[in-house]
Amino acid sequence: MFTTAIAGSLPKPAWLAETEKLWPQWTTQGPELQQAKADATLLWIKAQEDAGLDVIGDGEQARQHFVHGFVEQVEGIDFVNKVTMGIRNNRYDAQVPQVVAPLRLRGRVHAFEAQLARAHTKKKLKFTLPGPMTIVDTVADRFYGDKVKMAMAFAELLNQEALALQADGVDIIQFDEPAFNVYMDDAADWGVKALEVAARGLTCTTAVHICYGYGIEANNNWKKTLGDDWRQYEKVFPALAKSSIQQVSLECMHSHVPMEMMKLLEGKDVMVGVIDVANPAIETPEEIADTIGRALQFVPKNRLIACTNCGLAPMSRAVAEAKLKALAEGAKLASQRYA
Ligand code: ZN
Repeated sequence: MFTTAIAGSLPKPAWLAETEKLWPQWTTQGPELQQAKADATLLWIKAQEDAGLDVIGDGEQARQHFVHGFVEQVEGIDFVNKVTMGIRNNRYDAQVPQVVAPLRLRGRVHAFEAQLARAHTKKKLKFTLPGPMTIVDTVADRFYGDKVKMAMAFAELLNQEALALQADGVDIIQFDEPAFNVYMDDAADWGVKALEVAARGLTCTTAVHICYGYGIEANNNWKKTLGDDWRQYEKVFPALAKSSIQQVSLECMHSHVPMEMMKLLEGKDVMVGVIDVANPAIETPEEIADTIGRALQFVPKNRLIACTNCGLAPMSRAVAEAKLKALAEGAKLASQRYA
């Protein structure tokens, strides 16, 4: 009854990149690196299938980071001279590339791993792209001088790649917009519009993932400042409910997001985060089924998808594997319980 999916990223094996890091260095280069990316992609497809998940992803094994993996293929960006910039409203510093000229795609961005994944699973394939607003928050602008203008320029490029991914046979295209939870007014004002530009013309399922970030120290510390009642979703969900985006992925397990926020997503499929990505403890099937039960007060049964709170990239491989299994087992238990 309840289908299962992951938000997107999975840990990179040690033979591909540094482990347990958000911006890991690749272990090798050239054709060897390409082979290692392919091997890691196949390994995680198998692990997701073995765990019993319904929607499969590439685990983002072919990109260093969920934003920069896309941006690397964009012309008009200086990737050599990165600068330090406070991102997510100065929550933490990152080394970011600079936009220095009009933006244009060099060609396909994710054809290699999308086609590889499609050829190796018969299950539904989800592919993730960064959302325009989150990209804008993860690059330094030396050219556009206007956030909205630059977001719309990125949205056009994302749309180009999204349409090509659909042609590759991807079933669900998900845009990741953690920045929506930081700049709530802008998100409701132009962030959702930029997202719809990115998704324009897609006939496959469209989704957006909005979270409180990876389980890294800077995010964990930030969450401590948010109090006991996290209402960030309250501003953007009504705008999303009116949009053409079909699925919304949100953080729930161990968060202080009031469950009734989900009520604001009427008419959408809701990917409820039932796996904590900031805590290596493995959720029990009972805990997961309980979370699903609480969400069912606000989400119709046929619209609930059990998911992870965010990507699992900075975690250890063993923990991620165990969490995939827990996700499938918890959803199964919930299906029996709430049938
Ligand atoms: Zn996330």
